[in-house]
Amino acid sequence: MSQPLRAPLEIEFDYTRSLGPVLSRFMTGLRDQAILGARGADGRVHAPPFEYDPVSSEPPAELIAVGPEGTVVSWSWMPQPLAGQPLAEPFAWALIRLDGADTALLHAVDAGSAAAMRTGLRVRPRWAASRVGSIRDIACFEPCDAPAGERAGTRDEPVQVPAGMIVTPVRLHYEHTASPGESAYLRGLAEGRLVGQRCRVCGQVYVPPRGACPADGVPMDDEVELPDTGTVTTFCIVNVGYPGQRVTPPYVAAAVLLDGADIAFSHLILGCDPGQVRMGMRVRAVWQPREDGATAAGAISHFAPTGEPDAPYETYASAL
Ligand SMILES: [Zn+2]
Repeated sequence: MSQPLRAPLEIEFDYTRSLGPVLSRFMTGLRDQAILGARGADGRVHAPPFEYDPVSSEPPAELIAVGPEGTVVSWSWMPQPLAGQPLAEPFAWALIRLDGADTALLHAVDAGSAAAMRTGLRVRPRWAASRVGSIRDIACFEPCDAPAGERAGTRDEPVQVPAGMIVTPVRLHYEHTASPGESAYLRGLAEGRLVGQRCRVCGQVYVPPRGACPADGVPMDDEVELPDTGTVTTFCIVNVGYPGQRVTPPYVAAAVLLDGADIAFSHLILGCDPGQVRMGMRVRAVWQPREDGATAAGAISHFAPTGEPDAPYETYASAL
């Protein structure tokens, strides 16, 4: 049996959002080296401040200064910091209860070594040299007995805060391993074939393969090759553009039920006016040229109308 396929996947986007009135004041306070908390209806002081009181659901009436020193209440050592984290050298992630607060703030502690970390450790903020109104205006916390101004925090990605907005870069890098069924499907695509699986109990054919039948829970190892023709069961016309879009709107994204399959899968319908696409329309896969270095997963460019008469509703109703 051939090995499952593996590939690195990288997902990146900038998450931009409004800070809202409370967190805007909290971040602005950090720029001015003040850490603000909020007193709740039960008298407890939350730092960072809540946007809505967990007891009364009301916004905080006022923000009050806490800290700047505090006490570590829990921590975890980060022996190999990742790109974008507060410090380039090993550090601790810690929950820090600032003096005057009843809740804890998550931040980095530059203690030098895990042996120097402990619950109950007294810490103080090390302020970033240039502050813009961001949680990273606190470069990190450091033990209160550390010499002042000894080490600097990293600021490899300054975060701009225009008018109460915050931009957070989000990154996810991981290695995806396809299941044996998915691997057979992807290898088939690279050869211009569509490979699905049939359940031995209910006889349903799934493409792409699921590995196990969702209805019966049994492994599916009965491979079937399907034609590259099918029927549009449902569709939507995409009118909204976004950065990096390959096809210019308007275009159609549809559920296509391949002939011989029992479950539809999603693909693009091109080659006709979007207004002509309809339920029951017969379509055929348009394959990408092999020599252009197309990856297996992208081997079908889109589906296009075949010009055949529409499929009767009964032939695809069960796949809706
Ligand atoms: Zn089944």
